[in-house]
Amino acid sequence: MEFKNLINGEWKPSSNGKYSENRNPASWNEDLIGKFPLSTEEDVNEAVKAARQAYKKWRLIPAPKRGDVLKEVGDIMFARKDEIAFEMTREMGKVFAETKGDTQEGIDTAYYAASEGRRLFGMNAPSELANKMNLSFRIPIGVAGIITPWNFPMAIPTWKIFPALVCGNTVVFKPAEITPKTANTLVQIIDEAMKKVLGKEYIPGVINLVHGKGSVVGEALLASKEVDLISFTGSTLVGRRINEVGGRELKRVSLELGGKNAQIVMPDANMDLALDAVLWGAFGTTGQRCTATSRLILHNDIHDKFVEKLVERVKKLKLGYGNDKGVDVGPCVSEAQRNTVDEYVQIGLKEDKAKMLTGGKFAKEGNLAKGWFYEPTIFVDVKPNHRIAKEEIFGPVLSVLKCSDLDNAIEILNDTEYGLSSSIFTNNVNDAFKAVRDIQAGITYINGATIGAEAHMPFGGVKATGNGHREGGWTVYEFYSEWKAVYIDYSGKLQRAQIDNY
Ligand code: NAD
Repeated sequence: MEFKNLINGEWKPSSNGKYSENRNPASWNEDLIGKFPLSTEEDVNEAVKAARQAYKKWRLIPAPKRGDVLKEVGDIMFARKDEIAFEMTREMGKVFAETKGDTQEGIDTAYYAASEGRRLFGMNAPSELANKMNLSFRIPIGVAGIITPWNFPMAIPTWKIFPALVCGNTVVFKPAEITPKTANTLVQIIDEAMKKVLGKEYIPGVINLVHGKGSVVGEALLASKEVDLISFTGSTLVGRRINEVGGRELKRVSLELGGKNAQIVMPDANMDLALDAVLWGAFGTTGQRCTATSRLILHNDIHDKFVEKLVERVKKLKLGYGNDKGVDVGPCVSEAQRNTVDEYVQIGLKEDKAKMLTGGKFAKEGNLAKGWFYEPTIFVDVKPNHRIAKEEIFGPVLSVLKCSDLDNAIEILNDTEYGLSSSIFTNNVNDAFKAVRDIQAGITYINGATIGAEAHMPFGGVKATGNGHREGGWTVYEFYSEWKAVYIDYSGKLQRAQIDNY
């Protein structure tokens, strides 16, 4: 089946008629999902023009009504949750329970956005002068360019598109090439909800979808003078490029980038809980979460026993197609991603004294040979300066490091250019609070895995993980709106300003 772009309310092929194939990473040669447009700069410019035109009307729709559209979006997503999740597993590999979670995050974000349409609070303050009132309002910004990765193909686009729309902006959405189908479904749902809620007031071009490559479609969005803001989630490498161009063009830019997240386990912790958490954090989504537990920092006193149990559990993880029952870990998203994982394993094997205890190869038994499966892998005796302790791998590989006390554990945890998520397992309340204070990360869990986010809480990281903005919660509404100050003088005379009267 050939899928299309949505531009100005119309589903249409790319202007060059070219397509790329979308295939199931668990069954590459046997399961072709569809063909998606390899769009051009011309397509992007047409979508941006439509969004610019639609902005004139959309910004005037009352915010609570814009919120009603998001409520409808949430309802449709809820009704189609299982089907969306099934297709998402088919196109990117993570197991059905996780793609259901990804979809639920989108539903929660829709309902939160709907309620925000009734808030979008402004602020006011007393005037310096008599008979004068000061107000301040949030106003929309214009056309939002949204560029997203493949690992949360529903949740991440909803984190960006829903607040952008509620704030009164219009959108041109460029999803990851690897997960175009989920993006297609999301945009189709938004368009359906717009038609249902707005009726005759329906405005074509409020949401536009342009499929294709980052180097073409992404770059064209960046280059367009008519795109006012860019929200990007993806690699730090591409994020730096977006920040450079965005900075030059004075676009507002939000960046959510890589991570090298760690879980600390102290000797007083509940070991079973810590074990469950690291299994989930390191190997859930095949380690392909920005918040995945990539480093495990174990106190010397518990190290050997913990590692023994961990290896035992990891060996029992069942690999397979994520829509099959009983499967714990799906494939890597692509052949290239699996090769990257293997390259890092080879690097790990050469690191001074690091030892691989399990995994370390392509998984090819039976049906696994049909997809991009990699055995869950554990390295121990990893040192903070090893590349497998420093660089984001984005796959099922866990590096275990030793620590001597809390300060040492936090020092190791912070010894990375990234700062997204973090976790500590301890039953010592003083250590827990010190960790909250001293860990350099946008997210810290006490006695929880590094992965997981709540739709109404700020999500994002420090250092090279981003540029200071946050997705989720109330914070993201700051990114998609600007402040306007309004002064109302009802004195009947020219009061001038306080500075001119003092
Ligand atoms: P990526 O950077 O390769 O691609 C992300 C998106 O950017 C894709 O849509 C891609 O087509 C587009 N793109 C690529 N080159 C571009 C360019 N020159 N101009 C404009 N757009 C361009 O990342 P990925 O492989 O899709 O995703 C994995 C990365 O995303 C990991 O580093 C992961 O940590 C990160 N990530 C971060 C978060 C977070 O919230 N911090 C969440 C999920 C993923």
